[in-house]
Amino acid sequence: MPEARLLVMDVLRAGLNDGPGVRTTVFTKGCPLKCRWCHNPESQRPLPELSFDAERCAFCGRCEETCDQGVHRVEAGTHRLERRLCLACGRCASDCPTDALKLVGRWWRPEEIVSLALRDRRYYERSGGGLTISGGEPMAQFEALRETLRLAKREGLHTCLDTCGHAPLADYLDVAPWVDLFLWDVKATGEAHARLTGVDDKRIERNLRALYASGARIRLRCPLVPGLNDSDAHLARLADLARTMPELDGLDIMPFHALGRDKAARVGMTQQGLPTESAGPADISGWLATLADLGCRDATVG
Ligand code: SF4
Ligand code: SF4
Repeated sequence: MPEARLLVMDVLRAGLNDGPGVRTTVFTKGCPLKCRWCHNPESQRPLPELSFDAERCAFCGRCEETCDQGVHRVEAGTHRLERRLCLACGRCASDCPTDALKLVGRWWRPEEIVSLALRDRRYYERSGGGLTISGGEPMAQFEALRETLRLAKREGLHTCLDTCGHAPLADYLDVAPWVDLFLWDVKATGEAHARLTGVDDKRIERNLRALYASGARIRLRCPLVPGLNDSDAHLARLADLARTMPELDGLDIMPFHALGRDKAARVGMTQQGLPTESAGPADISGWLATLADLGCRDATVG
């Protein structure tokens, strides 16, 4: 059987936002959801791809010379890309003098990931941190994910798995022994979930409740976008999840920030129908107050 490898979009060392303490976070590439507000849109497609940041381009034309697929057309202060011709070989990105071009997505062996994470072990020990596998959706690369988590636990690392919940329940139960904390996204409710993410939320909630019942430690992470998924019905559901699963590790609201649009453009995607501004203090205090009124007083801002 070929060795399982994980397609990784990026690795963040010494991060503080993806679980307890100081963490190494591995962002996998490929996701079954298409959230309209995705703040890592370059993680959605399950293949390596070229990212182009027009702001950084010096129009030197080196990429046009390097690429024999005819992807780049650089002339008179313009740079057009014919993305459908790109083979994602990465040669133009290696040659670009300004880092305007990057190849997003590299295959990692599970041992490579754990070996990188172990470099920061002393920070984890001081802070209660460890390794987080995020995405994209890590469960979409199940075999390599499971091996990565198994090796990490063998090394005594604390592990978090950040997931959208849209994977077979049997797979969640399978990896649970190697996951210290699940970071479980709750993105919208009912019809809005299907409309805003492209998938139904019934399976996700069934998985969540079954995993909770199995004794797994779970923290809810709830992206909130003003006017899009912050309806009273959704906030009431969040409060209901917290009330009916009292042993949850916690519930974080994740206020929308408007960085995804530029990142989407760099990989030839568009994000439409989103607020132009990030969520502000008034949005956040309003959400927290509503949740508190509904009985969920311990929600925090992630
Ligand atoms: S990644 Fe390779 S094929 Fe794609 S544009 Fe660059 S050189 Fe051409
Ligand atoms: S090599 Fe880089 S800086 Fe030069 S034209 Fe291509 S993208 Fe722009």
